[in-house]
Formats: sequence, C-alpha cells, structure tokens
Amino acid sequence: MSTPTPTPVNTPPVNLLGLDGAALAQWVGEQGGKPFRARQLSRWIHQRGQADFAAMTDLARQFREDLQRKAVVEVPPVVKSLKSRDGTRKWLFGVGNNNAVEAVFIPEDDRGTLCISTQAGCTVACPFCSTGHQGFNRNLEVHEIIGQLWWARHALLAEGDTGRLPGGSPVVDDRVVSNIVLMGMGEPLLNYNNVVPALKLMLDDNAYGLSRRRVTLSTSGVVPMIDRLRDDCPVALAVSLHAPNDELRDHLVPLNRKYPLRELLDACLRYLEAAPRDFITFEYCMLSGVNDTDEHARELIEIARAVPSKLNLIPFNPFPQSGLRRSSPTRVKEFARRLMDAGIVPTVRKTRGDDIDAACGQLAGEIRDRTRLTSLMPGRRQAIPIIEASQ
Ligand code: SAH
Ligand code: SF4
Repeated sequence: MSTPTPTPVNTPPVNLLGLDGAALAQWVGEQGGKPFRARQLSRWIHQRGQADFAAMTDLARQFREDLQRKAVVEVPPVVKSLKSRDGTRKWLFGVGNNNAVEAVFIPEDDRGTLCISTQAGCTVACPFCSTGHQGFNRNLEVHEIIGQLWWARHALLAEGDTGRLPGGSPVVDDRVVSNIVLMGMGEPLLNYNNVVPALKLMLDDNAYGLSRRRVTLSTSGVVPMIDRLRDDCPVALAVSLHAPNDELRDHLVPLNRKYPLRELLDACLRYLEAAPRDFITFEYCMLSGVNDTDEHARELIEIARAVPSKLNLIPFNPFPQSGLRRSSPTRVKEFARRLMDAGIVPTVRKTRGDDIDAACGQLAGEIRDRTRLTSLMPGRRQAIPIIEASQ
C-alpha cells in the first residue's frame, strides 16, 4: 500500500456514484488502494446495489472504515413512483430546489428499456415537447444521471419485477434493464461533461456492462458534440428530426437555426464511421397538418436516402396547451406507405405508459424555470403544485 493522501478535516464525503471507472480508480489510489480494490468497490455499488460500505465484506476492514468516513453512495430521493396498466414504471427523483426529473422503465417480452433524464428542463424549447415548455433549471450531475439506473435496477430486482410481460420470455441476459435510452428530460449533448462519464459507467464491465448497441443517446442535433461523442464514447445515436426542411425544423426544433439540416446530416455521416450500429435512428413526431403531408414524406425520403438510417414515426403525445394534434392513424398509414413505396421501412412507435404521463414528450417532472423561457412560450401549461414526498 502506498501512503494515503490525508483528507483535510471538514471535506464533504465524495459520492462514489458520480465517479466513472477511471475516476474511481484514481480516488481509491489517493486513499492508498490498488486498482483491483476500485473494481471490487464498483461491482459492490453498481452490480449488487450496495450503498452500505460496512456490508462490503470482501473489502479490508481498514478500507471499509476509510470509506465510511470519506465517501457515500447516494441517489436523488424518489419523490413519486408510478406503475402503468401496461407495466410501464415511472419514478420521479427530487434534485433539489423543488426540481424533479423522471425515469421510465418499459418492459417488453424480449427486453427492458430504461429511459433516463439528463437535465432538469431543457433550453431547446421544442413546441411539441412538455419538457421544452418548462424552461431550464440545471444540468444533472453524473450521480443524478447514473442514480436513475442504479435505483431502477435495484428497485425492480427487489420487487421481483423482472421486466417480463405476462407470458413473455425472460429479458435478454437475464438483465432487468437490458437497454438504455437517453430520451427523458433534457438534451444530453448540452450536458456533455456529465453525460459521458455516465455513459462510460453503463458500458463498464465492473458496473452495468451493457454493449454500446444497447445504449442510445437521443439528440436534437448539437452538431459539434455529435463529433465529440464519436471520438469519446460512441453509442447508438438517435436524432430528433421531426421536420424534413430547414424552414419547418427552425420552428419545431429551434436548435436548427444554429445547426441546420445539412450540417446535422453531415455530422450523422461522420458519426457512422465510429458508431456501434451502421445506421442512425431518425425520430419523427407526427403532428397533424404540420409535418405529415405527402410533400413532407417526399422530402423525408431524400434525407433517408442520404444517410443510412432507420426511421421511427412517433405518434405525438399531447399535453395540455401544446396547441398541437396527433396525426390520424389513416394519415400515419398513408405517410408510411409513401415511404415504403420508396424502399424505406419506418417503424411506428407504440405509445406506452400514457396513463401515468410516461410516454415520450410527456415527461414534465417539476422544474423551477431559471431561464424564464416559459414566459416566452405561448400556451404554456400551468405551474404544477409541488409534489409531496411519497413512495
Ligand atoms: N432532447 C433529446 C432527448 C429527449 S426527447 C431529443 O430531443 O432527442 C426524446 C424524444 O421524445 C425525442 O425524439 C423527442 O422529439 C420526442 N418527443 C418530445 N415530445 C414529444 C411528444 N409530445 N410526443 C412524442 N414524442 C415527443
Ligand atoms: Fe429538449 Fe428534446 Fe424536448 Fe426538444 S424534444 S425540448 S430537445 S427534451
């Protein structure tokens, strides 16, 4: 053992949940521990869900005592937990200052997908998105992002809820959470420095050990950060397209004014050089009379031909005062048929968990808008009363 670095008196404990593999090894090293101790510790925390250092029985007693003095494993408090008729689960995590963010678990017969939030609110302000209507409060820290996975995994295991639907087969690899999508509240690439260590933990064999193909980051199109992600931590990429031309996209995804479609599509092509999948997923939220005409389908075909991609048509999930309507099933069918005639086979996303407001774009959480963005948004929903802690 090397000589440990003395911890100054009154140093607040370190939340180990916020350290990726490299950072944990460095911290353990500073305490005089060897790298294998960091790996052991990581497995206790992330794989066994243990937050009590005293219970980590194969760690040396002295090391456990040091940990108890200098570190904690803490997730944000769960202020609400809901279960949908279809088995979808939603947890609301308090992140201080009366802000809360949401995580959603969607069990299917061959997988269990967890949808995670990365920011309290969002600055991009897409008019069809409930989070966008709420304004922005702050970026989530690494432990608040990974804490959603830590909590969901261990809560589901503890309840014996293995993510199976009645009659369904066991989830892949017997993992309760087999897939992760960064599609909750916030724009992950605008919280890059905290999102990347969280992604690394999801992939780390001593933490969650998921393959890059099973972790999907969804972005509204922050072009320079797409390039950085390709170099730092390429996972599967979904891009929120929603409009097939700049004029409409400037309105539906206001970030387009900064990074127009041509630049975004070029970034997608560059990303594919390092991506774990050989396609980008394009998400397209179907809004009646706004982006669902035959002409839009024609423009969309051009884009889908330019970039190896899969197209995901998402029925718009309405929320109070969005002022927008979901495209009719007949229109979605006709739109999809036009794409198919051109050799592009879209998937139409099923809506899950809408009875607990857990469907895409309905995640509202609880945000105290620091940006005053909401005062600029027409028809914004009313402020929601603060949620009482309940479990
Ligand atoms: N900020 C990122 C990730 C979070 S949004 C992004 O925009 O990609 C996750 C997905 O939900 C995005 O594709 C988003 O466009 C979609 N979405 C947002 N509001 C929606 C709504 N009301 N109905 C259906 N999908 C919505
Ligand atoms: Fe932000 Fe994504 Fe919602 Fe747009 S769709 S406001 S980028 S969370």
